[in-house]
Amino acid sequence: QIAILGILSGSIVSFGLTLFKSNRRTLMYRLKYALKVNDFYSLYQPKIHLKTGKIVGVEALARWDDKELGSVSPDVFIHCAEENQLITMLTKKLIAKNLKQMKPFLNKDPKFSLSINLSVQDLSDQSLLNFVDNHVRKNGINTEQIIFEVTERSAAQNNVLKRATKQFLRKGYKVSLDDFGTGFSNLSWLTTFEPNEIKIDKMFVQSIGTQTVSQIALNGIFQLVGNLNVALVFEGIESVEEIHYIIRHTPNAIGQGWLYSKAINTAELQLLIDQQPYMETSFLEHQKQAR
Ligand code: C2E
Ligand code: MG
Ligand code: MG
Ligand code: MG
Repeated sequence: QIAILGILSGSIVSFGLTLFKSNRRTLMYRLKYALKVNDFYSLYQPKIHLKTGKIVGVEALARWDDKELGSVSPDVFIHCAEENQLITMLTKKLIAKNLKQMKPFLNKDPKFSLSINLSVQDLSDQSLLNFVDNHVRKNGINTEQIIFEVTERSAAQNNVLKRATKQFLRKGYKVSLDDFGTGFSNLSWLTTFEPNEIKIDKMFVQSIGTQTVSQIALNGIFQLVGNLNVALVFEGIESVEEIHYIIRHTPNAIGQGWLYSKAINTAELQLLIDQQPYMETSFLEHQKQAR
């Protein structure tokens, strides 16, 4: 009986593994195909100056709706592209689309910015910066309006990050440290790295009002980064209480979150910007009421 159970559970495990492997292989094949037919696109999530409710820019977030797999989460396909050394090809295709789509918004308002997520692999690819530069110039966009988001991972990768960041900064681009607090954060690293912006991970925003370790850590982060000369962006804002808490500690904070808007297409973004004067007042009213 035990032997049968053993064989049975063994085959279940190996069946599971095969399924896992074949899923991964299917994912890779579909990803290669999607790259070939240029199926990847971005939606844009607004970044809001929390005190006034004004849209200051957008972050491009990659999307993929596959005919066979359905819509695949960026966490899954970005990881798959990284594993198969396809990420920089994907990044370039996305950047070309992003710049073309955001050109009217960027040219119309010189204060409006576009944030683009990069992988560590992108940063060690020497062809990326030239590619970006050509497309930015071709579209007549100011480099200061483009913010590259990078994440800290390990000490070794952070050196690659630091070197590439210097090159981007020299060309006039801005650099943002994404998912702050979840990776390899250390003080001396932060002071030598000198990003223009730090994005506090949504894990900390979600901890507001919970009295957990993350909430205590958030208070530490306010003290730590409050004294640095960087823009602070808070991810994942879902409630007015969170806005209040953040503004109390950082009056000039910028935020992103479903409370204000999910990632949207260019037509929806245009609508949102057209409604701005109304949105700003209603946003402020909304805040006053909640006080
Ligand atoms: P990220 O750059 O930290 O982006 C923030 C994620 O939080 C996005 O998930 C966004 O949709 C989500 N989010 C925004 N507001 C809220 C909120 O109020 N509540 C909650 N629960 N979530 C919120 P998304 O679009 O699924 O992207 C996941 C990650 O995939 C990104 O995290 C980024 O690391 C990566 N990614 C997305 N697009 C690209 C890309 O073009 N290139 C690279 N290299 N990575 C990308
Ligand atoms: Mg990001
Ligand atoms: Mg993030
Ligand atoms: Mg993230």
